[in-house]
Amino acid sequence: MLINQNPVMPSTQIPAAKRSGSKPRRISFINFSLLSILVLFFSLANSASASSCQPPAVPGVNQLLAQGATLASNMQTDFGRLQHSSACYLEVWPVNTSQVAALVKTAYANNVPIRTQGASHSENGSSLPHQFELLIHTARLNTITFEKTGTVTVGTGIPVALVKDFVARHSSFFMPVSNDGGVAPTVGGYISAGGIGLTSDLYSGFWEHVNSITLVTGSGKIVHIKKHDPIFQYIFGSMGQLGIMTEAVLNLLPNESLPFNYPLGESYTIRYPTTNGYYWTKPNADQSIYWFNLFASPEEFSQAKSDLENLENKYPQALKYRPIYIWKVIRASITPPLVYDKPSDFYAIGIWGNRAGDSESMKQLQSLAMDFDALVFQKKYRRYIQTEISASPELYKRYYSRKTYTEFLKIKSSLDPKFLFNQRSFFK
Ligand SMILES: Cc1cc2nc3c(=O)[nH]c(=O)nc-3n(C[C@H](O)[C@H](O)[C@H](O)COP(=O)(O)OP(=O)(O)OC[C@H]3O[C@@H](n4cnc5c(N)ncnc54)[C@H](O)[C@@H]3O)c2cc1C
Repeated sequence: MLINQNPVMPSTQIPAAKRSGSKPRRISFINFSLLSILVLFFSLANSASASSCQPPAVPGVNQLLAQGATLASNMQTDFGRLQHSSACYLEVWPVNTSQVAALVKTAYANNVPIRTQGASHSENGSSLPHQFELLIHTARLNTITFEKTGTVTVGTGIPVALVKDFVARHSSFFMPVSNDGGVAPTVGGYISAGGIGLTSDLYSGFWEHVNSITLVTGSGKIVHIKKHDPIFQYIFGSMGQLGIMTEAVLNLLPNESLPFNYPLGESYTIRYPTTNGYYWTKPNADQSIYWFNLFASPEEFSQAKSDLENLENKYPQALKYRPIYIWKVIRASITPPLVYDKPSDFYAIGIWGNRAGDSESMKQLQSLAMDFDALVFQKKYRRYIQTEISASPELYKRYYSRKTYTEFLKIKSSLDPKFLFNQRSFFK
């Protein structure tokens, strides 16, 4: 029998929303052990030199400062707390697509590497800035507009859970797929991972419910990517490699049990910072949750589950385990190749749990991660690689089929010809 366990973090309370008029309005909601030791060492070294943080005195940097960027000297970590950023980078919080485009144009013209950060709720460090990069936060791309009946247009910096809650409160429609368990990824981050949830057994993945995406590419060009566009399916799971998504139009479904209500033309702004500049701000944030998730075909399901159980038994102290979760993801019209590269339904099966923290458990966690990597390669399983702690350009190159990797590289080269977005995360 399949169980639906919720693999998401302890929920953060979703705040109540207020209604507004047609003007935007503010609502006050506010590869690893050794590697991670090295990362920590270099991060601390960076931190120690934080006071001497001096970006190169080149025109591009001055221009970015004039465009609202500031010099940051705080070392950040992400939700997983295994990876750390540099302690010397530029950061900026644009409020709309044109500002993002102008910043990207300047950075691109001056070869300044760009890093995009949503809620920093990932665990692989891909949203953490390296030295002298320009970190573009999406938190202020936070407007929700009811533009066309049956859709909602959202800034990509809003947490998915808040969009879901908001739509349900303000209309007789609902968002069919979201992450579960509370405030976690932003809309942009969720798309960058792929996007599945408890209801994927009925409604497939997030990709089936996104109508279009506004993307700022390397040249600062603003493009609107729609479902029929060949790039569309490669955006899901793309981990910030193709540019900065600023807005998405989501398709909603009607809740037939409610009288029709769609606040056409109304627009709202949601303010909900998820990090304080150093780490994810939620209670018990030190209790990071990690998981090892296989995507298995119906034929592979039983074997995959038993392989995961064997890993749990082999490394009993690696995590404070929670019951194995199983989500079914049905295929509707597409399956994004970077998420799952077979045209069929699949199961997301995962072992997961809270970080135990002591040195023996960290050692076991490292061994578990290595055995999990080996299992995936040995049995040719798929995995939810975007959401895991294992990450490196070498791993991605080995993991993806040649066809998928080559196609992604081709799209990357056309949208980001200088390879300035999220350097050293996916591609070397
Ligand atoms: C506890 C926990 C529970 C989770 N639950 C689920 C779940 O139920 N379902 C699911 O599918 N996933 C789940 N995830 C995975 C999560 O969706 C991803 O880690 C997601 O990428 C995090 O989004 P974020 O907004 O925090 O992005 P960040 O961590 O800030 O960034 C992640 C990546 O996305 C890129 N990125 C972010 N925003 C943009 C943008 N606007 N444009 C371009 N690139 C961007 C970043 O550069 C980076 O490469 C969970 C993760 C955790 C830790």
